[in-house]
Amino acid sequence: MTIVNYQKKKILIHDGLEADFLNKGGEVPCPCCDAIVHFGLYNSLDFDEIKQEKKIKMVSKMRGVKLTGSEILEFNYKDSPLRLSEKKCSSGLHDILVIFTYKEIQPARYESYLIGVFDSKDL
Ligand SMILES: [Zn+2]
Repeated sequence: MTIVNYQKKKILIHDGLEADFLNKGGEVPCPCCDAIVHFGLYNSLDFDEIKQEKKIKMVSKMRGVKLTGSEILEFNYKDSPLRLSEKKCSSGLHDILVIFTYKEIQPARYESYLIGVFDSKDL
């Protein structure tokens, strides 16, 4: 099955205080219907901890994501670790995976890029 990354461009979605991002999160249009998908740090997973097979499939569709580290290898984008949020769209019909980065770039200043949106059926 072909895997599609519905997030065509990587976009900066947060630059500022952690609390702001924790509270607000973000949203993307559902790739399968007219609903929206809310995502955020709350209940998100460490991308490196999900199943290898799933990870490799998604990484193949996210340009710029690299495996870095010496003893422990981690996937990074712009030197930031990746987070994965798996949520149903607001119509409740589709399970959508949203991949974003999250990193403290200066004390109390956090940056997040939205880099991937996948339909969990494709994986
Ligand atoms: Zn949907």
